[in-house]
Amino acid sequence: MEIAIIAHDGKKADMVQFLMLHKELLKAKEISLISTGTTGSKVEAAGLKVNRFLSGPMGGDAQIAGRVAEGKVSMVLFFRDPLEKHPHEPDVLMLLRLCDVHNVPLATNPATATLLINSLNQ
Ligand code: PGA
Repeated sequence: MEIAIIAHDGKKADMVQFLMLHKELLKAKEISLISTGTTGSKVEAAGLKVNRFLSGPMGGDAQIAGRVAEGKVSMVLFFRDPLEKHPHEPDVLMLLRLCDVHNVPLATNPATATLLINSLNQ
């Protein structure tokens, strides 16, 4: 199963904390991680393998949205920062929309990401 992890800059620390808490589960053989560029470097630094796409503002969210549309992504964990402006907001909205179009589980904050990841244990 492919899981996408994305974090805006203001939420990258929360995302790393989340990764540390759920590292063993995320290392499972049947899970492959994909990320936007800078998020992906943090995922790698946390000791996890990840397929990195472009940085978010350069089109990484759009690339992941494309994979959602193609049915390749099982879950999107998006640590959004609602208190900052983002030049790539249209791409972010596209990703959120395509998750809804294709009924893909989508977390937009750490609490929901925790609920979604814990659902994999059941
Ligand atoms: P980044 O992009 O991982 O390259 O920082 C994330 C985003 O801002 O959508």
